[in-house]
Amino acid sequence: MPVATTARFETRLFIANEFVDAADGSTFPTVNPATGELLAQVAEAKAADVDRAVAAARAAFEGGDWRTMSARDRGRLLYRLADLIEREIDEIARIETLDNGKPIFESRQIDLPEAISILRYYAGWADKWQGEVIPVAGPFLNYTLREPTGVVAAIVPWNFPIVIAMWKIAPALACGNTVILKPAEETPLSTLRLAALAREAGFPPGVWNVVPGYGEVTGAALVRHPGVDKIAFTGSTETGRIIMREAAATLKNVQLELGGKSPNIIFADADPEAAVRGAAVGIFYGKGEVCSAGSRLLVQRSIHDVFLEKLVERAKKTVPGDPLDPKTRLGALVSERQMQRVLGYVDTGKREGATLLCGGARVGERGYYVSATVFDRVQPDMTIAQEEIFGPVLATLTFEDEEEAIAIANRTMYGLAAGIWTRDVKKAHRVARAIQAGTVWINTFNRYDPASPFGGTKQSGFGRDLGMHALNEYTQVKSVWVDLS
Ligand code: NAD
Repeated sequence: MPVATTARFETRLFIANEFVDAADGSTFPTVNPATGELLAQVAEAKAADVDRAVAAARAAFEGGDWRTMSARDRGRLLYRLADLIEREIDEIARIETLDNGKPIFESRQIDLPEAISILRYYAGWADKWQGEVIPVAGPFLNYTLREPTGVVAAIVPWNFPIVIAMWKIAPALACGNTVILKPAEETPLSTLRLAALAREAGFPPGVWNVVPGYGEVTGAALVRHPGVDKIAFTGSTETGRIIMREAAATLKNVQLELGGKSPNIIFADADPEAAVRGAAVGIFYGKGEVCSAGSRLLVQRSIHDVFLEKLVERAKKTVPGDPLDPKTRLGALVSERQMQRVLGYVDTGKREGATLLCGGARVGERGYYVSATVFDRVQPDMTIAQEEIFGPVLATLTFEDEEEAIAIANRTMYGLAAGIWTRDVKKAHRVARAIQAGTVWINTFNRYDPASPFGGTKQSGFGRDLGMHALNEYTQVKSVWVDLS
């Protein structure tokens, strides 16, 4: 398939409904990971550009059409944007795949439909997130107002550029905030395209801004800026720590969705076919560049050999291919750096004594492809059982019984998600309670829905995206007292 021409990409900053160059004319490259070729030079926002974006977002928040717009009309804008994305779904999915390397099947059939349904979900909430009247003592009327938090900086990673941006932007706008989006430097193109659609949908200037650039420059400028009220961040735990520290100076509201090392626990009484599929999809979907990837496979000893045999058979059939081919299920890793990082972990796994059952190598010399990789005989304290690899690399551990499965599952600093495979209903719910994670999937994995909250515990972060829970994250409660005596 021919690569789309750069003319189809929007590459400038989006501030106050205008596409503009960076003040000092800086740009940075974004590459197609399937080929290693340059896709586009994108404007790089520096401190001066961040100042402009914050000024635009503040002006829109504090006065003008957005401030006075009814909640219902805000919802209508979100609905309209969802329709516009649907109109251009093929093109935007293609941009996402070109920039990220994920299979077009995932961009077109999963990510974009999900982004659209997130927008519609929060469009519906816009006029339903209401305050309450509280029965206080004495001759008083006491009620609460739910007010928007203010200017929200959404700083997002490269693995689901549009979906995770929507996790933040849709509830933020539904609640009346204004937003400055900082896409990841690896994948700025799809959300710039969305900005053009947001303008077409009718969002007033300054409500929706996009400032591509590097984390330590553009992201850091947003985190330090006194005109930003909230940082809604998804990314690595390491960056989350920096953001929390830096945001302390201006006491910003910070929400952190961070990394994971999620256990996928296979009990001997699981439906074998479903569990093998769940284990494979849990790690190979999204190239394993998924925060909730089931990257630690915990298999009960009595079924270990049979299970691993079937899993490896399946992994060997999961061959990386051209992301633009609709049949491809394993794409290219996002960057050369990420590929090297993943291959480095493969070496560490071998060095520390784990057994490599399949994969573990780069595929081809052009583009950043890594084969579906399964390690066995991994011990709970090995590096590949503790650190987030963020690639198609599975670490298999073995357990005897329920108690040991729970102990191993919880033996990590992360607490993002977990999978449990069993036909025993009581055991499933017992283990779900015992696992330290923000999400537990029973006999399924990687399920998401706009209505269901998602977020971490422990060092996977705090706060919740999605669901009605996210509405709390983007509003503050004001208590109003009236003397009736
Ligand atoms: P990252 O932390 O390197 O970058 C994420 C974003 O933060 C990027 O936009 C980056 O430019 C920016 N950034 C980097 N340094 C910054 C700084 N000092 N100040 C402000 N912003 C800065 O993460 P990544 O490599 O892009 O993404 C992978 C990570 O994201 C993984 O750890 C993964 O688990 C995590 N993730 C978590 C979730 C979740 O919901 N918990 C979802 C997806 C990805």
